Amino acid sequence: MSDCIFCKIADKKVPARIIYEDEDALAFEDINPQAPVHALIIPKRHIANTLDITEDDNHIVGHLIQIANRIASDKGIAERGFRLVINCNPEAGQTVYHLHIHLLGGRIMHWPPG
Ligand code: 5GP
Ligand code: ZN
Repeated sequence: MSDCIFCKIADKKVPARIIYEDEDALAFEDINPQAPVHALIIPKRHIANTLDITEDDNHIVGHLIQIANRIASDKGIAERGFRLVINCNPEAGQTVYHLHIHLLGGRIMHWPPG
């Protein structure tokens, strides 16, 4: 999608601090981190949010979680704990309409979330 900031990051038209990349997925540091570790893991293909995930996307969604696990391990927070968040639509706080998993960690996470 031409006006999507995360598509632009995937196309290298907008810079980002990239942590991981393969043919189908990208992970990069959030520009406004909410925790010592705050990465975003996205499919390169534009999917607006979880409501647009189809059967054909099941593989990529699992792949994104595997990437999140690997980053958590690499950053040394896997055993301590971390949180994966996907916001969907306005009341959840979704601001970028390209599917992304937030990987948050490096501090204590509270529950219930705000
Ligand atoms: P949402 O609110 O949609 O769940 O999360 C969007 C996230 O994307 C926010 O945490 C925000 O800080 C991050 N973000 C928005 N624009 C950019 C950008 O241009 N670069 C990076 N690295 N992160 C961004
Ligand atoms: Zn996009």
